[in-house]
Amino acid sequence: MMGSDILAENNALQPVEPHMPLTLADIFDAARTIAGIADNTPMVPSPYMASFTGHDFLLKLENMQPIGAFKLRGAVNAVANLPDGTSGVTCCSTGNHGRGVAYAAGARGMRAVICMSSLVPLAKVDGIRALGAEVKICGTSQDDALAESLRLVKSEGLAEISPFDDAKVIAGQGTIGLEILRARPDIGTLLIPLSGGGLAAGIAVAARAIKPEIRLIGISMDRGAAMHASVQAGHPVEVEEVPSLADSLGGGIGMDNKLSFQICRDLLDDIVLVTEEEIYDAMQTLYYEDRIVAEGACVVGIAAIKAGRISGLKGPAATVITGRNLDMDMFTRIVSGQDIELGDYSIKGTPYRRKT
Ligand SMILES: *Cc1c(COP(=O)(O)O)cnc(C)c1O
Repeated sequence: MMGSDILAENNALQPVEPHMPLTLADIFDAARTIAGIADNTPMVPSPYMASFTGHDFLLKLENMQPIGAFKLRGAVNAVANLPDGTSGVTCCSTGNHGRGVAYAAGARGMRAVICMSSLVPLAKVDGIRALGAEVKICGTSQDDALAESLRLVKSEGLAEISPFDDAKVIAGQGTIGLEILRARPDIGTLLIPLSGGGLAAGIAVAARAIKPEIRLIGISMDRGAAMHASVQAGHPVEVEEVPSLADSLGGGIGMDNKLSFQICRDLLDDIVLVTEEEIYDAMQTLYYEDRIVAEGACVVGIAAIKAGRISGLKGPAATVITGRNLDMDMFTRIVSGQDIELGDYSIKGTPYRRKT
């Protein structure tokens, strides 16, 4: 494979940032653990985005995972590493992590209790119940859901698996970085949807080690972008959580964040924010141009490029299409150009028109 013997595992690499809490070796371990269960999703070119940017543009299709989202990687790796005799697991989730944990726990015959806020779309809640997990709807924010999950750790002895601030979860998500660079060592820029930062941290640990000069950009919605606000402040801060088309990107990073904040702060080149209107347009774009049904959270990379928020792409770029677990009524309204109400925020609908 061209120039990628660095991906041979025995070519033990020093971490580029010596103080990093995770290394490429952790990601190789995770890749072994999730092999055959949550790996090797397709990566396909987007001809439209290639013509828009003037560079090859690749879509890593994590929407094709068995649970419809990349979170299965981290969840499988975390559950597999729990000690024998663990009675069960719990987590808080905006939906997809809970689905991953429910699936991974079910496969190990373990009880799973998933705590979510009332902001989580019903389609996601139903998907988790269908996997046999117990569901608790608590409060109106990720923080409320986390509080309940931590209470269950004390009262029922369950093991908690953070959606983003857990070394095994981050390493699991990082396997996406391995797969992208193994398939396309020439990728110059990675556009990574960013919320709690487990995905971006994992991909960054892998990608920086394999290709130090790669450009890594995290992208969030501009309403309630906790990692962006935290990196700007220099420490974790709370943001108000509001409904968004990118519901999977909602929630804080945890005031006592141990891993994902530091890794994102130190390894990402930039964090870019996009508006709800730009997400709306990008969901239409991915649907009409690439025929892909995906959540608002997945298209923030496309949104950022189309809105001109990322300048100077130098070589081939790739983004992660993170999941497909959306409310199909909402999706149908978006692709047919109708208005959308998100709590007290309205998006004025427009039929899709190709821009070049
Ligand atoms: C969780 C999630 C993200 C963001 O991942 P983080 O690790 O929290 O940054 C993006 N897209 C989808 C579909 C998700 O479920």
